[in-house]
Amino acid sequence: MKTLMELVAPELGALGPYVPHAGRFAVRLDANEAPPLFSPETRALLGEEAARCAWERYPDATASELRRAIATHDGVTPEEVVVGVGSDELIALLLTVLRVPRGAAPSARLLTTTPTFVMYRLSARVRGVAVMEVPLDSAWDLAEESLTRAVEMSPPNLVFIASPNNPTGTMATLERLERLIQVAEGALVVLDEAYIDYAASPNAQRALYRKYDNVAILRTLSKVGFAALRVGWLIAAPALCRELEKARLPYNLATVSQRLATVALTRLAEERARLAASVIGERERVTAALGGLAGVTATPSQANFLWVRTELPAGEVFQGLAERGILVRSFHERGGRLAHQLRVTIGTPSENDAFLAALAEVT
Ligand SMILES: *Cc1c(COP(=O)(O)O)cnc(C)c1O
Repeated sequence: MKTLMELVAPELGALGPYVPHAGRFAVRLDANEAPPLFSPETRALLGEEAARCAWERYPDATASELRRAIATHDGVTPEEVVVGVGSDELIALLLTVLRVPRGAAPSARLLTTTPTFVMYRLSARVRGVAVMEVPLDSAWDLAEESLTRAVEMSPPNLVFIASPNNPTGTMATLERLERLIQVAEGALVVLDEAYIDYAASPNAQRALYRKYDNVAILRTLSKVGFAALRVGWLIAAPALCRELEKARLPYNLATVSQRLATVALTRLAEERARLAASVIGERERVTAALGGLAGVTATPSQANFLWVRTELPAGEVFQGLAERGILVRSFHERGGRLAHQLRVTIGTPSENDAFLAALAEVT
């Protein structure tokens, strides 16, 4: 075993597996999933469609029906769409394919912000891609000068920007995003729109994709009611999609995932809109309620979660909530300005009430 261990990629030495919080909680508001609000009719339709899958056959390796549905949904051509097992797989695929070091750099580089979605960093480190993280500014927006300096000093292969961002719920100012795309001309800038269905202007960033060759858009069904399917997609120039297709595993997306994702996009638009409207309504209600609690402030959110600052250390608040059966995400272990920050997913109205009641007791 010892000699086998010598063969393991050295990058893994400093890493651990991704483990969601264990334990049983009455209310789980820690993973930004949508609340279970689909109607019985929608559930029945999904069941019927699943029952029609050809179980003995491999899935469609080109996911042609799903890619056509995505293309129609997003106003692009199927040649601009690559599907993945969640956007996580597409993040890994991009890091695998766009990996030739630039200039005299010893390795490929990824530029992103902090705090942001942790999979960017983890996926890069597994593949030996160097990670540069530029802190967001005091309003959790892009820090323009620091990003420009980073791009100029160490040209990246890839730039990942989540907008709306996880965990802050904020959108990057469009002008700052556009200038970043311009200075990072030689890199692919990936705009991760995992939460875009909850944003006030869901189409604004799309214009940047149409205007600049070096922009791609990342989407997922995970945050809008279909986390179980594990379906994400990338929208990018056809030439780049063709290269990504060579590295994608041909049967990555299960037949049932392809089928039900297609149904979600083509026949459940109203149901998805109803779910998003309910979450947005609850988000505004919870934000207002938090405004009435002393020692707590919430950053205005464009996503399905709230970025909450507590006067007490976040670790203490997290513990108090957990003892009352409510799981949220705390960032206290990251220290610095994150030591007082919690991320709280918007749940059903009664879950949100339970969270508010528990928080009032704890803070
Ligand atoms: C949750 C999340 C994703 C989704 O990943 P999937 O693999 O599609 O479930 C992607 N990007 C961001 C910023 C997220 O928060």
